[in-house]
Amino acid sequence: MLAALPDLPPTTPADEAEWPAILDDVREIILPALTHWQSPGFFGYFPATGSWPAVLGDLLSTGLCVQGMLWQTSPAVTEIETRVLDWMARLCDLPEKFLSTSQGGGVIQGTASEATLVAMVAARHRMRTRQPDTTPGTLVAYTSTQAHSSVLKATRIAGIEHLRLVPTDTDHTLDPNVLRSMIEQDIADGLTPFYICATAGTTSSGAFDPIDRIAQVRDELAPDAWLHVDGAWAGSAAVCPEFRWFLNGLDQADSYCTNPHKWLLTNFDCDLFYVADRATLIDSLSVTPEYLRNTATDSGAVIDYRDWQIPLGRRFRSLKLWFVLRHYGAEGLQAHIRQHVRWAEWLEEQILADNRFELAAPRSLALVCFRLAGDRDADTRALLEAANATGKVLLTHTTLPDTEARDRYTIRVAIGGVNNTLESVKALWNLLGTLAG
Ligand code: PLP
Repeated sequence: MLAALPDLPPTTPADEAEWPAILDDVREIILPALTHWQSPGFFGYFPATGSWPAVLGDLLSTGLCVQGMLWQTSPAVTEIETRVLDWMARLCDLPEKFLSTSQGGGVIQGTASEATLVAMVAARHRMRTRQPDTTPGTLVAYTSTQAHSSVLKATRIAGIEHLRLVPTDTDHTLDPNVLRSMIEQDIADGLTPFYICATAGTTSSGAFDPIDRIAQVRDELAPDAWLHVDGAWAGSAAVCPEFRWFLNGLDQADSYCTNPHKWLLTNFDCDLFYVADRATLIDSLSVTPEYLRNTATDSGAVIDYRDWQIPLGRRFRSLKLWFVLRHYGAEGLQAHIRQHVRWAEWLEEQILADNRFELAAPRSLALVCFRLAGDRDADTRALLEAANATGKVLLTHTTLPDTEARDRYTIRVAIGGVNNTLESVKALWNLLGTLAG
């Protein structure tokens, strides 16, 4: 595509007559070079959903062109965000401590990766406050081998030298007994456990780490360590009471994040990040030069979300989520999630009934991971490539350890796109069946 674009920008302004040509370029050059995430046949990665209410909210936010870095720079940007984050906490029945009316509160980050990093910075700050004698370079973070790569990235950015990847059980969830022995060993070696990231819905297979058991280990061995729960994808399902079980133990966590931009009809970017103790987060990130001082901040009566995130500036992102919540209501969002889980159940049943295939992990909500039965990694890979080559579907893969701890090539089908339908899932299954021969 790059070759179709001129090397230099235009020198003269476009007049009205030139706009059709600009839009022709969009149609002819740009659209063919996009991956169509909203196609009915898109089942790759995790969905990146959107909806017209969210698009309108985003459009309005862009058109208003305001900056919400401080309460004073646009009070509505802050106050709608506070209300929407509380609405979401109530909708998902999150612990009271994450509400703005308690000691905690929520904020919109761009991505789960930022939430993980910000939580890590707050965790380090809290550890330095509680244990001021901690030697630099001794802090240790823990997460599972199945956790998202953003945890490793966060340690690199924050300059944390020790990250333990805790092995998982056969169901791909973090094994709290191994976590226990790793923490014991680290303490014996003079290191300081300061951060644990549990995943509620891992990227590869949607596995749910046992948050309550992890919290128990933390409480017994390293009570000052921060427990962050990453529910980037699965967290959207908590709008349905029957799926909330995977957040058991969240009341023991220090922070939690989930991405409505994945599965909850809210265009990228929108990550909800909740903390139980906002004072620690703010203390860790607040830097106030003279030019940002103002009477509202000085009064202590307002929230300045710049102190809850990495950048200073911030967009009016809550507007799109506010539109989504007002348009769909709790029932609309629940129906959206439930249909995808039903279609995934349908796909799971087909796999279980077809001896050419086997599940690589138990179905998790609307994510189904499978491979060709037997020791056929190369064939599974060829099947995925052949399916994608038709241009009708897009699937992505991972590797998952089998019962003998060998990493096996695995096809992931992530249902949840706004244009996925039961028919498109059936068409995918027919295609895979045909290609598998
Ligand atoms: N955490 C989990 C469990 C994920 O599945 C993902 C992405 O798929 C991420 C974090 C990263 O999300 P983001 O792009 O919002 O940083």
